[in-house]
Amino acid sequence: MHLHKNSVKLAGLYLVIIMAISLFFSVSLYTVSVSEIERGLRRPTPHSVIDQLPAEFGNSMRMRLEQEHDEQLDQARGHVLQSLIVINLFIFVGAGIVSYYLAYRTLRPIEEAHEAQARFTADASHELRTPIAAMQTETEVTLMDPHLTLADAKKQLTSNLEELAKLTTLTEGLLGLARFENAQAEAQKVVLADIVTAAHEQVATLAKQKHIQVKLPAEASMEVLGDKTLLIEVLVIVLDNAIKYSDAKTTISITATEDHKQACIAISDEGQGIAAADLPHIFERFYRADTARNKQQADGYGLGLSLAHRIVELHGGTISATSTVGKGSTFTICLPMAA
Ligand code: ADP
Repeated sequence: MHLHKNSVKLAGLYLVIIMAISLFFSVSLYTVSVSEIERGLRRPTPHSVIDQLPAEFGNSMRMRLEQEHDEQLDQARGHVLQSLIVINLFIFVGAGIVSYYLAYRTLRPIEEAHEAQARFTADASHELRTPIAAMQTETEVTLMDPHLTLADAKKQLTSNLEELAKLTTLTEGLLGLARFENAQAEAQKVVLADIVTAAHEQVATLAKQKHIQVKLPAEASMEVLGDKTLLIEVLVIVLDNAIKYSDAKTTISITATEDHKQACIAISDEGQGIAAADLPHIFERFYRADTARNKQQADGYGLGLSLAHRIVELHGGTISATSTVGKGSTFTICLPMAA
């Protein structure tokens, strides 16, 4: 609705400019045409013939000729005016339609960016408010307790510290997302094997703690165009989830394939899986599947996959997921290959 109203306003402005130019040219054209026609009609009449006629007859002939000229001139003026009015009407309607289309196309991305920004701010403030409010209430209650012991105070401070750690994770996630909202990925040739190895190194300790084996692809020499650090970040997010949502002593397999000028990395886990109802939403901001395990997990705000999605999108690639509850999930990231 907003977009339509603003497009009409902008189109109106375009139309005023176009019509001002068109009217200026029409008036000039009219003036020039009329003076040309006038000149043509006033071409010297063969007076010599009239002069040879008897005076009385010659005069009336001259008057009739002039009257005829005037009528022709009026008629020609009318024709020119009529044509110009019709042309201007066509321009008005045509330019109106084109102006609206152009205004709509110009304003749509701006409006979308604006809406995304507003949604982001609303989501972020909502998510930040909950832990802050919890921390404030807990601290106030503790402080009001007249029998507060050192142990109680320590317990409260520890709890505060936990909340603060969550807030740090959250703000980092939010900043990451905000950074990539309008960013452009730097394009350099990146070998898949390099980013897979680098990402694996970052999550190796985590996997080890849960005795999870990570199988790396046998061959991944394909090159893609992109920003190495960001691509590593995408893999870390997906691998981190695979570890987080899998039981101990399971296996995570990474494979690399080439498909229609695209290089794809698939990360499969044997974890809890994602319900079909949740699957279409996992790349949305702040979305977390409502499972018992998710509720226990402290370090998660549903921002990781939306960040990964944004980064892959910046690279002109795709990220998708398939999953069977209780069996595991596979996340596939495809990126355009370097020529
Ligand atoms: P979170 O911080 O909650 O992990 P993400 O955006 O990374 O946020 O993931 C969104 C949700 O998708 C998670 O809360 C989880 O429910 C689901 N999810 C992501 N990866 C997996 C996986 N490998 N196995 C099962 N569920 C997953």
